[in-house]
Amino acid sequence: MFGGNRTEGRDAMMPQWIIEKKRDGRELNASEIEFFITGFARGEIPDYQMAALAMAIYLRGMTPDETALLTEAMLRSGDVLDTSALRRPKGDKHSTGGIGDKISLPLAPLLACGGMAVPMISGRGLGITGGTLDKLEAIPGYRTNLSEREFLGVVAEIGCSIVGQTDRLVPADRKLYALRDVTATVPSIPLITASIMSKKLAEGIDHLLLDVKFGSGAFMRTRDDARRLAESLARVGRAMGKNVRALLTDMNQPLGRAVGNALEVVESAEILYGRGPADTTELTLAFGAELLTMAGLAPDTAAARQTLGAAIESGAAIEKFREMIRRHGGDAEAVNDYNALPSAAIQRSLTAPCAGFVVGVDAERIGRACVLLGAGRRRTDDAVDPAVGLSELVKVGERVDKGGTLAVVHANDRGRLDEAQRLLVEAFTFGDAPPAPGPLIAERV
Ligand code: URA
Repeated sequence: MFGGNRTEGRDAMMPQWIIEKKRDGRELNASEIEFFITGFARGEIPDYQMAALAMAIYLRGMTPDETALLTEAMLRSGDVLDTSALRRPKGDKHSTGGIGDKISLPLAPLLACGGMAVPMISGRGLGITGGTLDKLEAIPGYRTNLSEREFLGVVAEIGCSIVGQTDRLVPADRKLYALRDVTATVPSIPLITASIMSKKLAEGIDHLLLDVKFGSGAFMRTRDDARRLAESLARVGRAMGKNVRALLTDMNQPLGRAVGNALEVVESAEILYGRGPADTTELTLAFGAELLTMAGLAPDTAAARQTLGAAIESGAAIEKFREMIRRHGGDAEAVNDYNALPSAAIQRSLTAPCAGFVVGVDAERIGRACVLLGAGRRRTDDAVDPAVGLSELVKVGERVDKGGTLAVVHANDRGRLDEAQRLLVEAFTFGDAPPAPGPLIAERV
């Protein structure tokens, strides 16, 4: 094949030779990866060449060494937060994305109550999956764009802060992600690994818990693919000296009973009041216990769960959430009196066509319906509607009567509501008996 050794010396490098090498399935070396990513981040390598390389990586894959080099090159495209002034163990959780996944909102204040510093940098919704920033911005006044100084100041004072990516952190990922989104190159294990891990490593944390989701509402459809992604993420994190654990979790049905930005803020607060749905509460506590033990803040998961349970019971956890909202300029009363959150003009019950047990709630269809309602974006520059979505969502294994409520649909537009409803009616399947419940956490890596 063409290409030979033409890419060995940096001076002699041309982007098309590197693309050609990967296209032909050969391994890229450190200087080739560095040259390409640095050039792309600086605007010297155009989008069309980066898109071609992304597609070659998507089709040909990368070795673990190449993936680590790609992650490092992306990390070096920007700053790494200087968290050395934070005196507590620094940790974070990252989810690969799902439907109804609001765990970061209750988890950050809970971890802060447990003694951890949580400098959490989150993203917006991607495709049908929801985003932590969109949910937080449903709280009137909440600013997700604190400066790095303000952000680290909030973490130092109260233990947690959740913000969006700044221009200076991993600029290569911001550009590359936007390009992947429109060139069908998102679901690639090396590209996802470099994208997620470069951002998490830029946070300057020591302990990282990865929630790698599989199922119809996740990027990774099968457990085997999720395991491969988890292994790749953990390998890169550990190679860079971080304490990393990964859990594979089920995303075949939405998490909790609410999907949609303001509706998920309500459910997050309910978890911190001790009244949250069983699955979301359980995952929040399980992730919290995992991180507190990883950081040596609890001797074992039973002790960690006790700490977290006590923070909920005493009201310390919801107070920490309020404090975080206040520090971000938001209306903290909104998680006390939910009327202060945006609400939709139309609320319509979706009813069961027959009596029986719910045997499936298809997370992908629910996610698509919520995007149609306006809870997510059709195009990257769309604004989301914070008020719309679903509440009172029935769970797999529950019994419903004919005409009973499967969910309440919140909408601001009748046309969109009708479109969403057509999808929603197909999201539920029924049977004569409840299916055997699967574990929420399927595996640890
Ligand atoms: N989340 C990210 O941040 N990057 C990806 O590539 C996929 C999910």
